[in-house]
Amino acid sequence: MAKTKNENTGGIRVDTEHIFPVIKRWLYSDKEIFLRELVSNGCDAVTKMKRLVSLGEASFDGEYRVDVVLDKTLGEIRVTDNGIGMTRDEIDRYINNIALSGALEFIEKYEGEEGDAAGIIGHFGLGFYSAFMVAKTVEIHSLSYRPGAESASWTCTDAGEYSFSAGERTERGTEIVLHVSEEEKEYLDREKLLGILRKYCAFMPVPIYFSVLGENGEEDGKPVNDPEPLWLKSPQDCKDEDYIAFYHKVFSDENDPLFYIHINAEFPLNFKGILYFPKLRDEYASLDGQVKLFYNQVFVADNIKEVIPEYMMLLRGVLDCPELPLNVSRSYLQNSGYVTKISNHVTKKIADKFNTLFQTDREKLAAIWDDVKPFVEYGCTRDEKFFSRMKDIILYKIHSGGYMTAPELLEANKDKGSDNTIYYTNDPQQQVGYLSLFQEQGIKVAVMDGVIDSRFLSFLEMQDHAVHYVRVDSELDKVLVSDEVAEEDEALLSLFKEVAPEGVTVKEEVLKSAKMPAVITLSEEKRRLAEILKQYGSSLPGVKAPEDEVTLVVNRSCPLIARISALAAKEESREKALSLAKQVYRIALIAQRSFTKEELQEFIDASIDLLYNA
Ligand code: ADP
Repeated sequence: MAKTKNENTGGIRVDTEHIFPVIKRWLYSDKEIFLRELVSNGCDAVTKMKRLVSLGEASFDGEYRVDVVLDKTLGEIRVTDNGIGMTRDEIDRYINNIALSGALEFIEKYEGEEGDAAGIIGHFGLGFYSAFMVAKTVEIHSLSYRPGAESASWTCTDAGEYSFSAGERTERGTEIVLHVSEEEKEYLDREKLLGILRKYCAFMPVPIYFSVLGENGEEDGKPVNDPEPLWLKSPQDCKDEDYIAFYHKVFSDENDPLFYIHINAEFPLNFKGILYFPKLRDEYASLDGQVKLFYNQVFVADNIKEVIPEYMMLLRGVLDCPELPLNVSRSYLQNSGYVTKISNHVTKKIADKFNTLFQTDREKLAAIWDDVKPFVEYGCTRDEKFFSRMKDIILYKIHSGGYMTAPELLEANKDKGSDNTIYYTNDPQQQVGYLSLFQEQGIKVAVMDGVIDSRFLSFLEMQDHAVHYVRVDSELDKVLVSDEVAEEDEALLSLFKEVAPEGVTVKEEVLKSAKMPAVITLSEEKRRLAEILKQYGSSLPGVKAPEDEVTLVVNRSCPLIARISALAAKEESREKALSLAKQVYRIALIAQRSFTKEELQEFIDASIDLLYNA
């Protein structure tokens, strides 16, 4: 710093360069934080004053406050607090020297680099100087709480020239006056300033009043912030309504959240917060989660993915982490062991919440399950610890109604011969024919029709080799085929072999149900393999498309098949048997997958024909 010519004036310089142009250029993108910095300095000054009062070193029993005043006529923004104030010496020390040395260090380190400006200024105690991002001249008028202190006034231009003058302030506290520069006139606007205050200062610990000189606004007389945010309260003192109301207000979402978690992590993590699971409009809706990170009630940033596990990015909420430096940079977050611990703690709390719901309010868990399922599944596949905490309470939606865990589902189907198989449908509409067969046998089927369900099932099988997941159209053997063996019907078999396209295996079985004359099945494993190959857009030699790998099971317990068999046995009625068998195949096909255009046309024509000849 250039030494001052006389004791009242000085120059804030870095050798030949002025620091202000550098700061300005550097911080260009995050200009609006100047107000956060000044208001939070005001709050700090008030907090210090409160402490002195509580220690008996000062006295005051009025209202503590910070005022932000917009004076359009003079082109000024004024930030005033009634905190501890500063003497002239203190301004010299804290503003001229300490803040300056922070600025110097900042420039030495970052000059010439591009990047996360808001992410580092706090490291360097540059908060106050951010005022120069919008002001051409800044004044400080302060009166210290110290008995007998004289007020002090300081003015500094954006060229870094400062001067002290006789103090003007008569009340304890500090007023910062920004003479907004011509280029930054947009900040001389009610909505602009209110917007910044609401974004960054909404939960600062001291009531903040905003006013525009000569104008009335809806906020007149009321603080723009909530100095005692819900997350700082003890969960025992908060009611359900409080959490819901807080959610509505902070996230402007008129829907209620599905549930919330109030985190109050003690030493050594020492952070507080409330996390909400929002109700999603539908599975494909954009995941517009929003977790706001605070540092001692000062807003730092939204959606810090380093703090929240990626699969929980749809959460909304607030986290107040006083252990994090105020203006943390992303690279700091990425490499911080502390952040990993926060993230683990959050994950644990979420899993705990699910477990508590499972234990104490299973109905509620079932009611929200469809909404949270994609994230639970995704989380399980991404995070071992989360999976180990969740694995026993993962629910399956049962096609016939209700929700069950895997052991419950296996238990329910135990005496139906299902062993360790969980039957599922990934398309209850298309697979309705099969579902009715299962329902008839009283076998419960899980609905797995979500986007990541099939991947999740494979994941579960890898975790627990004992349990298999089988789609309802895959295997009938264990549960739907009866023990009865019918005498082989050669004529019938050859008839159906004639009807089925090449490559389709035809076999006859006595099914427990007489409902369907024939059913198409395809192996679970082969289908999955084909699906994977399809995903990667490739094929393997020797692996056919799944539709070519199907089996046509002719149901010998169905009366219609008995009739066709009788017709097939006689030469004169074989033609008729053939047309019926064709139609039976088509019905089996439409129960398994949708028709192609040609198949549909054939089906319509054949149906009309059959009706005509009936
Ligand atoms: P930081 O707040 O990160 O320390 P600043 O540049 O914002 O850095 O402020 C430097 C110092 O100036 C503060 O630590 C504080 O001691 C003093 N200060 C700034 N604003 C005020 C104020 N409104 N009242 C009292 N002291 C203040």
